[in-house]
Parts: sequence; C-alpha cells; structure tokens
Amino acid sequence: MSGGSTDRGFTTRQVHDGDRAHGGSPRVTPIYLTAGFSFDEYEQATAHFGAGDGFAYTRTGNPTVSSAESALASLEGGSGALLLASGQAATTVAVLSLAGAGDHIVSSRHIYEGTRGLFLDNLSRLGIEVDFVDDIRDPAAWAAAIRPETRLLFAESISNATNRLIDVAAISRVGRERGIPLVIDNTFATPYLFRPIEHGADVVVHSASKFLAGQGAVLGGAIVDSGRFDPIASGALFPHLVAPGRRGAPSIADRVGGNARLAYARESVAPRLGPTPSPLNAFLIAQGIETLSLRVDRQSANALAVARWLEKQPGIAAVDYVGLPSHPDHELATEILPRGFGSVFTITLAGDESTARRFVEALEVFTHMTHLGDVRSLVLHPGTTSHLQLSEEEQAAVGVFPGTLRLSIGIEDASDLIADLATALAASGAAVGGPLSSAHAQVTV
Ligand SMILES: *Cc1c(COP(=O)(O)O)cnc(C)c1O
Repeated sequence: MSGGSTDRGFTTRQVHDGDRAHGGSPRVTPIYLTAGFSFDEYEQATAHFGAGDGFAYTRTGNPTVSSAESALASLEGGSGALLLASGQAATTVAVLSLAGAGDHIVSSRHIYEGTRGLFLDNLSRLGIEVDFVDDIRDPAAWAAAIRPETRLLFAESISNATNRLIDVAAISRVGRERGIPLVIDNTFATPYLFRPIEHGADVVVHSASKFLAGQGAVLGGAIVDSGRFDPIASGALFPHLVAPGRRGAPSIADRVGGNARLAYARESVAPRLGPTPSPLNAFLIAQGIETLSLRVDRQSANALAVARWLEKQPGIAAVDYVGLPSHPDHELATEILPRGFGSVFTITLAGDESTARRFVEALEVFTHMTHLGDVRSLVLHPGTTSHLQLSEEEQAAVGVFPGTLRLSIGIEDASDLIADLATALAASGAAVGGPLSSAHAQVTV
C-alpha cells in the first residue's frame, strides 16, 4: 500500500496515490487497460527498446492482448499471432509486411468487399498491384497470374459470400515452389472448422469481430503465422526480412528465423501504422474464443438445417451453402471441413430486389444488419449494400443477384429460424409453388 503522502499537493496525490494492488492469481487474464508500463529497474527500459523484452507501451504490447494472441496462435496451429484493431487492419498489416511499391498480389476473385476495396483503391495508390483469379480451384490459374513481382497469394478459406473453397494444399504448393506465401482469410471457417496452416498456408488473417469475439460487441483482427519463413527460398523476394538492420544489427531472419514475417509485422508495421487493439476488446475476444467451438458447432448445425429447408422451397432459386451436395465445392468441403460447413451463406430468391426487400422486412428473428458470425442470426442484401461498388456483371461474377441475400446463422433454435424464414418467404411473394408446409415439421438437424 503506497498510502500516499499528505504533504504532497492534491493534484499530485490524485494521480499518484491509488494503490497498484497486486495479489491473488486471477484465473482470467485481467484487462490491462493502461497506455504503458513503468520500468521498475532502470535497465528494463533499454532491455525493452533493444531486445523487445517485457511491456512498455500498449501500442507495442500488452498482457491482455498477448493472452488473446497466444490462444489464437495455439488454436490455428501457428507459431505466433498479432492482434489488431480490426480485420481490415489485419489484412493491411499482413500485406504491408510482405509487399511494397512495385510489388504484386494474386488474389482470389471471391473475397470480402472490404478486402477488394483495400487492394483496388488503397494499395494501388501505394504502388501495389493486384490481379484476381476466377477459377480459384485450378492451381494452373494461380500459377499463370504470378509475376516476378508477386509477393503473396490471397484467398478466403470459405469465401464471402457464396462459400467458394480453394484447395489450400494445392494452391500453397504453387506459391511455395516460387518462395511466395499463401495468405488465407479464415474468418468464415474459424480455426475450429479449418486450420489453413496445417494444409500448407503460410499466413492466416482473421476478422476477430466475427466468430472469434462472437457476441457482436467489439471489432478486432489478427494475423497468425506458420513460422515457416525460409530465408533461402524466399530471401530474394523479401529483402527487408533478410537484410541487416540499421547500424549493422542482425537481420530479422537471423534473429528470429522462421518467425521473420510476424516479427516484422509486430515490430515494424503494426506499431508504426498504429491499428492497436484496445485491451478491453482483446479481453472480450479472448472471452469469445473460450466458447468458439460450442458456438460454431451449433451455428453450423443450424445453418445446415436452414439451408436444407430453404433448398426445398419453391420460392428459392439458389442456396449457395457448401454443406449442400448441390454446391460446386461440396465434395472438397466434405474432405476438409469434417466438423461442419460454417454458417454464413447466400440465398437467391425467385424474384427481384423488391422481393428481397419484402423478405427482409418481414423477418423478425433475423436482424437486418451488416455483420456475421454473431450469436444472433443476421441478414443483408449485398446488391444494395456491401457490393454496391461493383457493376451488375461484377456482382454476378461473385454470385450476387438482385434477389440474393446473405444469411449469417446464429445459435437460436433452428425451428424458430425456419419459421421466421417461412413467414418472410410467404410475404416476399417469391414462393411460386404450392403452399408452404409446416416449417417446424421439416427441421432436419
Ligand atoms: C468482416 C470481414 C473482414 C473485415 O473485418 P473487420 O473486423 O470488419 O475490419 C475481412 N474479411 C472477412 C471475410 C470478413 O467477414
């Protein structure tokens, strides 16, 4: 107990005399909501700035943030993780740790629109070019898009929004043969359903705002690295990882070996650009991660039940859920997603935008909003929201039509979700066939 000293002024005591209580062993990592950390010994300051020991300032490290990072690294099977303020920050930092002006990205066509905007509008202004692959299952299509300047391949494990898959093992091989890492956005699958690093991916990024946090309360993002950076195979492509530091310091690869990519992101990109997560958000993400498998099991089972029901309805023109045998990537899905097929997918109503609008307006259990991976079920009309920047042809190329809706299935009772969808379908006017049979009778969980 510091006790304070009454001979000091009120304002001095106001900021110095609170007890920095230590004691007990909190089972849950507490929220270290502090901008910085005092150096208890003079030498600690130099040790931190030299070798990066300990905590000094929350932009470069924080115990609550570290705790969430180590949990995520373990679950993804990576050597380490870096938590950031949002999924967009994670993709930005991951890319800028690998590519600079004059470099090139080969990306799947089927990606989150925020990522497409980052590539096309922001990174282009920094001199980084992108080419999109349409036939993402074909390794030759990826190989054909690679140039001498290519520094990364990018794809989503389960794509937004039509659930396209890539064969991570095959595509990562295309990159590895050329020293180029494969970066996978694993937001839709989560490490519970799919671990890209085990299949050969080099870097994983996440929007932790979605399934990892799970409650729809906070934003966050993360980069997880395989720890398999190979200076011999890739050094020429990534001189910033293998060249000596300032004043002749050893290179990052000399210092941390296979962890060079993540160390560079942590030391030289994230703290300079500054998308630091709040320790409060890190705490809530860590809390979310503790129940990830339970939620994703339930959400995947609900999604399968809902998708099977929807597919049988006459008013539904298409259900793009990879858990259904009708999906073009279903066979690959049964191989690589043994625990479930996720819970975010699109449906296309037999009708136009006004049909979709009536459907959305009639839903009561589903919330109309732009988010996914929440415990609550959500619905969005991509054509007039997330995909507004795309032309009609570009929308069609990624499976978005006037009657298309994106569903994110939550943990509610499946029968309530199906009943809600049945009501909306009837109200939409899309139900062109006979009368809907009882929704509850058709639950097939
Ligand atoms: C939401 C999302 C992002 C962006 O994450 P934010 O946390 O919203 O910045 C990136 N990729 C995918 C697949 C997403 O769903």
